[in-house]
Amino acid sequence: SAQRRPSGGANAAGANSGSYDKPWRQNMAGKGNAGGAAGGKNSGGGAAAGGAGANKKQYIGPDQELATMLERDIIDEGINIKWDDIAGLEEAKRVLNEALVLPMIMPDFFTGIRRPVKGVLLFGPPGTGKTMLAKAAATETSCTFFNVSSATLASKYRGESERMVRVLFDMAREMAPSMIFIDEVDSLCSQRGTANEHEASRRVKTELLVQIDGVHGGGDKDKDKDSASADGEPPAPRHVFVLAATNFPWDIDEALRRRLEKRVYIPLPGQAQRLQLLKINLKDVDVAPGVNLESVAAQLEGYSGDDITNICRDAAMNGMRRLVAGKTPAEIKALREAGKDSFKEPVTSEDFQQAIRKINPSVSKEDIKRHEEWLGVFGST
Ligand code: ADP
Repeated sequence: SAQRRPSGGANAAGANSGSYDKPWRQNMAGKGNAGGAAGGKNSGGGAAAGGAGANKKQYIGPDQELATMLERDIIDEGINIKWDDIAGLEEAKRVLNEALVLPMIMPDFFTGIRRPVKGVLLFGPPGTGKTMLAKAAATETSCTFFNVSSATLASKYRGESERMVRVLFDMAREMAPSMIFIDEVDSLCSQRGTANEHEASRRVKTELLVQIDGVHGGGDKDKDKDSASADGEPPAPRHVFVLAATNFPWDIDEALRRRLEKRVYIPLPGQAQRLQLLKINLKDVDVAPGVNLESVAAQLEGYSGDDITNICRDAAMNGMRRLVAGKTPAEIKALREAGKDSFKEPVTSEDFQQAIRKINPSVSKEDIKRHEEWLGVFGST
């Protein structure tokens, strides 16, 4: 079709830089964690060489069009989140380091009984840092990061999801080491067997299970009849790690749960973590001398990391709001021209109080209780 790249064209251009190089990996390895990679999502893989993508190698295989779409929408390049950007969650960082980061750094150690886990599940209320953790783990390892949300799957690849899952894992192996991050995994893989469950969605789940079994060589494939519908040979072992996240762990089907061998609870922040979150969020604004951040943190019990970011953002706007209140755009412009920094008022205690009055915690106590119960039964670090 018209979408398809002329065969060989893209590769031929890259031939003199080694036609089997993987620009995705070069990108990640070359300007990955240390260098403050800019780029961001969708930045062209070949752009670094100045060739406007001319030497960009495509994944070569069946389903080329799907692969091109995946490459555009799902491979996240230039992520640069460090462990230190994430407040608290030390236990989760330790588990991810051991389950994902170290096996990528020293694969030879993680064999036999020490084989890496097939997958890790991060669960907990929304806005607690699960996505950030996944990105930090990817930054740390400079691996190819596939950022798959179930929403993307549903909206863009309707009807093709099953094939997409297969191509996704093929690409991940091709570009290994890779990390496949599946956000909202519950909506892709909810409890099976309900009467009105669509056949298509059941097939997607089955395909995902088969693929997860295959990531480290498919060793125990035969043990599980869920894998029986595999329609190819088990893929060769390559370092592909599956990291999934959910706000609704109880909706995850048992077969998938078993494959996500480590299940790590990402709770709401405690006092120390809330204080850290305030400091991270306010690092580029002035805080008025009278503000006691510890007592603000204490007031924010029950708020998620995301809520706290919102509070800080709102509080940091209040000084400007006071300055512009009742003024016309022309007056504001004149004010602004009069003094460049005149809008950068320090954030006061009252600014925090106003923001806290406006913004309620987004997570309910019942939700927390449910997570803790699930942790008690299925948690595993
Ligand atoms: P989740 O994936 O758990 O829903 P995210 O990782 O997407 O949450 O976090 C959403 C936003 O909340 C982040 O962009 C960040 O601003 C803030 N945030 C949440 N938790 C943390 C944390 N532990 N450290 C720093 N920022 C956080």
